Amino acid sequence: MEYKKNDIVTVAIEDIGNDGEGIGKTEGYTLFVKDAVIGDVVEARITKCKKNYGYARVEKVVTPSSFRVEPECPFHKRCGGCQIQAMRYDKQLAFKQDKIRNNLLRIGGFSKELIDTVMEPVVGMEEPWHYRNKAQFPVGYDREGNLITGFYAGRTHDIIANTDCALGAPENKQILEAVLSYMRENHVTAYREETGEGLVRHVLIRTGFWSGEIMVCLVVNGTRLPASEKLIEQLLEIPLAGTGKSGQDKRITSISLSVNTQKTNVIMGNDIRLLWGKDCIQDTLCGLTFSISPLSFYQVNPGQTEKLYGLALEYAGLTGRETVWDLYCGIGTISLCMAKKAKQVYGVEVVPQAIADARENARVNQIANAEFYEGKAEEVLPAFYEKDGQAERLETMSGQAKNESEQLPGEQGGSKLHPDVIVVDPPRKGCDEKCLETMLKMQPERIVYVSCDSATLARDLKVLCEGGYELKRVRGVDQFGGTVHVESTVLLQRRGADPAH
Ligand code: SAH
Repeated sequence: MEYKKNDIVTVAIEDIGNDGEGIGKTEGYTLFVKDAVIGDVVEARITKCKKNYGYARVEKVVTPSSFRVEPECPFHKRCGGCQIQAMRYDKQLAFKQDKIRNNLLRIGGFSKELIDTVMEPVVGMEEPWHYRNKAQFPVGYDREGNLITGFYAGRTHDIIANTDCALGAPENKQILEAVLSYMRENHVTAYREETGEGLVRHVLIRTGFWSGEIMVCLVVNGTRLPASEKLIEQLLEIPLAGTGKSGQDKRITSISLSVNTQKTNVIMGNDIRLLWGKDCIQDTLCGLTFSISPLSFYQVNPGQTEKLYGLALEYAGLTGRETVWDLYCGIGTISLCMAKKAKQVYGVEVVPQAIADARENARVNQIANAEFYEGKAEEVLPAFYEKDGQAERLETMSGQAKNESEQLPGEQGGSKLHPDVIVVDPPRKGCDEKCLETMLKMQPERIVYVSCDSATLARDLKVLCEGGYELKRVRGVDQFGGTVHVESTVLLQRRGADPAH
């Protein structure tokens, strides 16, 4: 049977693809069906045909799967954010568990027996809604020319007018409505991508889930905002309900502009101008205080982040004697949590502002045993290893006494050159080869790999295990309910290393 675009077929959905799509067969022809849930029988419209497989989307659910639930958000099919919101949460977790497992088997080349021994069940959320502490809403116009804000429809730049995202903080809706009403009353225009005209591009809202402090930052195609005092007035008048976990009321403490006059898809401009309040909000994570500016990276799901860091800390097995490198350290969140339990931590991060924040966060939390280096992990680590490693080898050869910070592995407590633990938390593309190679040369007792993409994780683990490490523990943590994304933490141990250390 030959199929073509727009054909309607009935398909039983038997599997889930990596992007959350349902997979089913019709007369031997495989279809990837958007918005179908495993276990559904659906009528689907074919959207694209290839020789051996095709793509389709659900027209009608004929027999709903027992895993199908009523989605919280009426826009979930059109919005690009949540791919699997119609799937029951326990099934979402099972899907994420399988995703990590399959990548370790197929890409990592690990045996089933090993994976089934070392892998623990993915850590889910108690409440998989309203977990995000940050959202960036585009501002624009609908077809009738009304001012709107919401989300981009999947793979497009059309804005869906939805101020009430089910993943975001509940007060976002009130804040966005205040911004829209200020704009209407003061004839402030929204930016139009096609022409590059108009003023307001995005609204960034960040909430300190612990502290209750809220930041509102308008990204503008200009350097100032007309009648900005009116915006401040409207925002501060919002009757905000609820408190942060600290018990303090939710309150707006920072209102600013981000200047972005470029024709670009990048949301934020680097020039931040404070309109009212403080330039940062503060929040507490794992008992440490962090200052978050509009431009800083900060984990978006603080509740699950604490669980993720808790695991990373457990895997690191710190007793107070250890030397730790934290690569891809961002604003130093993992580094500072580890510093409380280690002798010395060295963080590496490529974004200069994040390094400045990390140093400031160390100071505010009175942590003196964390040092931060700005640069790429694959450059900073090898440069350090080559330079100091050479010095150490020379000293050893000439029989000079080694100072305490430059011991060889096996001696009590590691050194900067031969740390006890290396933690990595790279972006989706994973670690650079040069970085992995240097890690292997440094021979830490343990490597803790925190990853937001289990495919690149599996690829990198293969290299590290071929280089002398053993896979000891794996566990996923769901930071992104409703979506297909999942974080993982992994513990690797050096072969021949004493596990008691
Ligand atoms: N560990 C931090 C940040 C993780 S996100 C936390 O949990 O908050 C990954 C970080 O890696 C980002 O801050 C990003 O800026 C940084 N990064 C990306 N490429 C890098 C590279 N080649 N070397 C060092 N850091 C990099």
